[in-house]
Amino acid sequence: MNRLDYSIVVPTTGRDSLRLLLEALETATGPRPREIVVVDDRRGGGELPLPDSSTPVHVVRSGGRGPAAARNAGWRHATGTWIAFLDDDVLVAADWPDRLAADLLGLPADTAASTARIEVPLPAHRRPTDDERGTAGLATARWITADMAYRRSVLVAVDGFDERFPRAYREDADLALRVCLAGYAIASGQRVTVHPVRASGPLASVRAQRGNADNALMRRKYGAHWRRRIGERRGLLPRHALTTAAGAAGLAFGAAGRPREALACAVAWATLTGEFALRRIVPGPRTPREIGRMAVTSALIPPAACWYRISGELRHRRVTHPAPHALLFDRDDTLIVDIPYLADPAGVRPVPGAVDALRLVRAAGIQLGVVSNQSGVARGLISPGQLAAVNDRVEELLGPFGTWQVCVHGEDDGCVCRKPAPAMVRRAAAELGVDIERCVLIGDTGADVAAALSAGARAVLVPTARTRPEEVRHARAAAMVAPDLTEAVRMAMAGSS
Ligand SMILES: [Mg+2]
Repeated sequence: MNRLDYSIVVPTTGRDSLRLLLEALETATGPRPREIVVVDDRRGGGELPLPDSSTPVHVVRSGGRGPAAARNAGWRHATGTWIAFLDDDVLVAADWPDRLAADLLGLPADTAASTARIEVPLPAHRRPTDDERGTAGLATARWITADMAYRRSVLVAVDGFDERFPRAYREDADLALRVCLAGYAIASGQRVTVHPVRASGPLASVRAQRGNADNALMRRKYGAHWRRRIGERRGLLPRHALTTAAGAAGLAFGAAGRPREALACAVAWATLTGEFALRRIVPGPRTPREIGRMAVTSALIPPAACWYRISGELRHRRVTHPAPHALLFDRDDTLIVDIPYLADPAGVRPVPGAVDALRLVRAAGIQLGVVSNQSGVARGLISPGQLAAVNDRVEELLGPFGTWQVCVHGEDDGCVCRKPAPAMVRRAAAELGVDIERCVLIGDTGADVAAALSAGARAVLVPTARTRPEEVRHARAAAMVAPDLTEAVRMAMAGSS
């Protein structure tokens, strides 16, 4: 059996549990990680009290920007083939490294990640409180970075966590969804990790409503059906909005001197709020303290949820999927008929319809770019001069492109530009001066689609005889698929997805 090559990344806010986790990892049986990267996400603060470790422990600071930014800082610093993310408050089993190896070794190359089974210990002698039930929800969530391992190469390809998610909420589902959209699978591992219930203040459930702002970002990114895409049921927001509206209307009628209407609204508000409180009290321990807490927070949660959702909608209002400002094209087998390692400009032949399709795009004021992998240069099969001559010939036949992004590295060079990495798509958007969300990349392979989606652009796949069936299948779920270039351009310009 191969040895597992992995690094552990632990974002921390300096909780005492970090020391316990590191001590448990020190004595655990199984393959040692290359390193443990502890990401100190406290804003200020001095040294972290770390126990002695036979594994190198690197401390990276991320300046209090939240778990998504902290994990990004951590995996970018780490060097293992696999990155095992652990939260600083989990308890790992004594043979966790062995179990991690069993989960990861032998996974096929298109499986990008493995989740642990998360266990939340609940009190045996009484019913769980609202807080405890909330944490217990982690055990059934689909993707939880409390213990989740990703291939580093895939994190590079999708550019890691989206740092617009500022708290420990939705950032893991967002990453997992992008990884799936990029054509990878996520495996359910067999290792079991314990996530204790955190002690939280009496208003924690109200503060948790800040997550509604992150839900707004999810909707902007993935459309109205985003919850279904992450395997979640409908949320409570519509109900909270109704409750809040009834309460606000009651106050307004009261202030306007219309007591009958005010009373009707107040009754509606009290009914909705009471029912909500009851639903939270019944499964709990029903102590006076818990009942009091539920009564107060049930009145505060609906307006808090609405407030945070509206602020999130405003903050993320520019994240949209409208008609494109730029179309980016793969070169070989998309714009021109592919001749492997084409070095002779005389061999350039546009695909049928290309000239007319591009004319339409230019007439609509949409910018154009080319994003192309040309590993033939690294392999010595094409000289840089020949590449330039072929690209010049493409422009002669098809007209000018506003930007050319060409990766001349080989597959194993470890560059950051080669598709499916998103770097060239990003650079093309930057050079054209357009938002990445307003770019559509048209290509003939899964790597083209993955590069576009990881960069935040949209994609249209035009399959050829060489496009693999699974690439088409993935593209049908994540992007648009067109029978030919003309149709692809039409779909891209229509701005539908
Ligand atoms: Mg191609």
